[in-house]
Amino acid sequence: MSDVLSGHFLTKHFGHTTALAGVDITIRQEEAVAIMGPSGSGKSTLLHCLAGIMKPDEGEVHLMGHRVDNLGERRRSELRRTRFGFVFQFGQLLPELPAEENVALPLMLGGVTRTQAVRQAREWFAPLGLQGMETRRPGELSGGQAQRVAIARALVSRPAVVFADEPTGALDQTTGQETMRLLVEATKHNEACLVVVTHDPNVASWCDRTVEVRDGRLTAQQATAYTTVLP
Ligand code: ADP
Ligand code: ADP
Repeated sequence: MSDVLSGHFLTKHFGHTTALAGVDITIRQEEAVAIMGPSGSGKSTLLHCLAGIMKPDEGEVHLMGHRVDNLGERRRSELRRTRFGFVFQFGQLLPELPAEENVALPLMLGGVTRTQAVRQAREWFAPLGLQGMETRRPGELSGGQAQRVAIARALVSRPAVVFADEPTGALDQTTGQETMRLLVEATKHNEACLVVVTHDPNVASWCDRTVEVRDGRLTAQQATAYTTVLP
């Protein structure tokens, strides 16, 4: 399997705090990786550096063989829009837009016409169990449904990598598990990688592999559910 995304010796300081102290991580084709660890250990900082939201102080990020951490803000922003998808804990859907337009938004930002973007967006509703929800506004959806709309929006641009930061954090256990199942299935079906930050071992168990961060370092790597080959 080829490497899609990798971080090499990622280091990040905030004042006197060392958030990342030289992390090496490689994500392979269609792999789902969970990042676990205590609060404040550097999980979100690692995700933000890999996703081009934040520049590491030292180290490099490579996407499909190209170095991307040193690109300017405009190019990194374009990269996030075209190559990456994002799912957050909550509050990421625009409340005034119907679900289908929320999903269509990344396409419209990329220059696709509204009609065409909404047509493409609608194709994601049935596979994610959202039939009939197309014209509802986020406030008219359950928490689990809203997260499935967010998953559709993350995938609609056919990204290489989906980043999810505590994607089930606002959901009850049962809904969270169902949401993770759909997230992993949908990313694999679309040949994307998945990087999930979570506190919850049940969430991590849906991934191929878990890495643990402590004090800005990776401490352990375990194969989980699907069991892929470790480096
Ligand atoms: P986690 O996601 O594991 O909770 P973070 O990556 O958010 O951890 O944070 C790692 C460390 O860096 C923590 O000590 C946190 O307080 C600090 N930190 C993160 N972001 C910032 C920031 N923008 N400014 C200052 N300190 C930060
Ligand atoms: P643009 O500037 O091209 O509109 P943004 O930088 O606002 O793009 O965002 C690109 C992607 O990164 C979006 O999906 C957005 O939600 C996500 N993103 C941006 N900033 C953050 C952040 N601080 N934390 C988490 N995700 C972010």
